[in-house]
Amino acid sequence: MDDILCHPIFLIFMELVFATNNQHKLGEVQKLLGNKIHLLSLKDISFGEEIPEDFETLKENALQKARYIYDRFKKDCFADDTGLEIDYLDGAPGVYSARYAGPNCSFDDNIDKVLNELGDVENRKARFRTVIALICDNKEYYFEGIVNGDILKTRQGEEGFGYDPVFRPLGFNQSFAEMDLTEKNKISHRGRATQKLIEFLLKR
Ligand code: IMP
Repeated sequence: MDDILCHPIFLIFMELVFATNNQHKLGEVQKLLGNKIHLLSLKDISFGEEIPEDFETLKENALQKARYIYDRFKKDCFADDTGLEIDYLDGAPGVYSARYAGPNCSFDDNIDKVLNELGDVENRKARFRTVIALICDNKEYYFEGIVNGDILKTRQGEEGFGYDPVFRPLGFNQSFAEMDLTEKNKISHRGRATQKLIEFLLKR
């Protein structure tokens, strides 16, 4: 099966656009896909605009992004949306994870805000949730991935992006930012959602 999947003709049929400008995410997903599916970035299709993301659920935002590209390029396409949900903060930052500390804020600003809001509280339970929306032949499909964990009191590690330095997955002693990509992908929200996407694509 793998030999067939590596054949160039097969790859042409499995060409997919990932509607993101985030190079970290692109690298994570491409690593999971290996050479089974030929992934095109927004740069590869010469799309430089910001895609709107103005809904209040991960599912609607993911679909909005995928639909935006599909309708313009008529290429099979998927997009993801991720939120960090912290129990003590009633699920915040959730769908607002990217700009939690305000417009144009940095990853560090967001982490500082979360650490300030949590202070020394004991209940630091949190989860990352990713929803992937896929549009193939104009039909919509969804895949969800969740990883539970807790928010550390200080940053640990230099890898990854976003809230990685303060998120420790359940059952591990390291934060996501202390793991290499292969290790993170095995258990992460996006890794889990992407595995479901891959299984679906390979069964079609
Ligand atoms: P997005 O909508 O998928 O781009 O994710 C929204 C925000 O969630 C990002 O800007 C990051 O701050 C955060 N985020 C998403 N995925 C991850 C991850 O794998 N690790 C840490 N933070 C993440």
